[in-house]
Amino acid sequence: MKIRVLGCYGGQLQGFHLTSFLVNDTILLDAGAPTSKLTLEEQHNIRHIFISHTHLDHILDIAFLSDNRSLKRLGGARKNPCINIHSIEPNLETIKAHFLNDKIWPDFTKIPTPTDPILKLCPLYAEKPITVDGVTITPIMVNHPVPCTAFLLEQNNKQFIYGSDSGCTDRLWEVADAQPNLKGIIVDCSFPNAYQYLANISGHLTPHDVASEMRKFKNENQAPVYLYHMKPETLSVMNAEIEALDIPHLRTLTQVDELTF
Ligand SMILES: [Zn+2]
Ligand SMILES: [Zn+2]
Repeated sequence: MKIRVLGCYGGQLQGFHLTSFLVNDTILLDAGAPTSKLTLEEQHNIRHIFISHTHLDHILDIAFLSDNRSLKRLGGARKNPCINIHSIEPNLETIKAHFLNDKIWPDFTKIPTPTDPILKLCPLYAEKPITVDGVTITPIMVNHPVPCTAFLLEQNNKQFIYGSDSGCTDRLWEVADAQPNLKGIIVDCSFPNAYQYLANISGHLTPHDVASEMRKFKNENQAPVYLYHMKPETLSVMNAEIEALDIPHLRTLTQVDELTF
């Protein structure tokens, strides 16, 4: 499995991109950055997008990716004609009602025709795995103000977890501990410790929270834990606080990282 970080920040500033991870060139985990980070050819390889939740920083580029795919089809290309959007049902309903609603953005689930659209919405169910392009993906419910799932990925008996935006959670760590060959887990760390109140009410973690969450992680493989979703403005403070935790296998993700295993 190859996981390329396109963006890993919880805010957008020059040089800092929103959350998006490209798996094996054809699967996207959240859509905060693909059109700003990928060439057109790379964008056209994407066949599946797994959406953890409907906050704008995770769905934004569905709009521009579908627009680009539409233009490609108008040009006559038929390779990868559609993109499958996978998420739990409440999220698909929100995307239809409030995003692809012909007001905020054209409804690409009906363009160019309802029977052969650019976007297909595919419901996921918590803890029920599906396999696409050789990768088995299981949504795991986590704790955020809107319905939100982590994703457990498995290919060739190797597992990886994208934890998505979440406050403290037990289920994510239970799933992580149950994996026989876990290669890594991406975990929320959005605000510095001084913003603990904000983290609590918005369903995110501080470095202080990360330290207590890590005590739930008993996996014997000592898989690396990658922190993501840092607010760029507070990155230097957060990096110092994360370093001070002095926890082995804890790393801060950067948007040039590419994980292969
Ligand atoms: Zn987010
Ligand atoms: Zn969120």
